[in-house]
Amino acid sequence: MTEAYGDAVTAPFWAAAGQELLLQRCDSCGAHQFYPRPFCLACDHDGLSWTPASGTGVIYSRTEVRVKVRPELVPPYTVAVVALAEGPRMTTLVVGDDGEPGPTCEIGDAVEVAWMPRTDAPPLPVFRRSA
Ligand SMILES: [Zn+2]
Repeated sequence: MTEAYGDAVTAPFWAAAGQELLLQRCDSCGAHQFYPRPFCLACDHDGLSWTPASGTGVIYSRTEVRVKVRPELVPPYTVAVVALAEGPRMTTLVVGDDGEPGPTCEIGDAVEVAWMPRTDAPPLPVFRRSA
């Protein structure tokens, strides 16, 4: 990718995608947040810094998609809300050990970030069960 992906708020997240999962951290109260925003959800402060996340979390909620909604995703596959170790929750695809989407997890499973390559955009953060 030669030009920045995303907008002024999200560009740093996408620039790091595939290398590390970044979260915003408030310079005033220390809260982490996702998705990226121009101010802190906890205290409204507008000073936020990007910080690497651990990339680990647990499945907070999940559902199995059984209807084809995107040509590149063949059902069934799992969409989950992951509670990241730093606190924020991220809606994401869950992949198996082969990196392919599938029916792969249960609520409470420990997961870690993986990266799904895309041809027209930076890698997409997805999650897989931790070894
Ligand atoms: Zn704050």
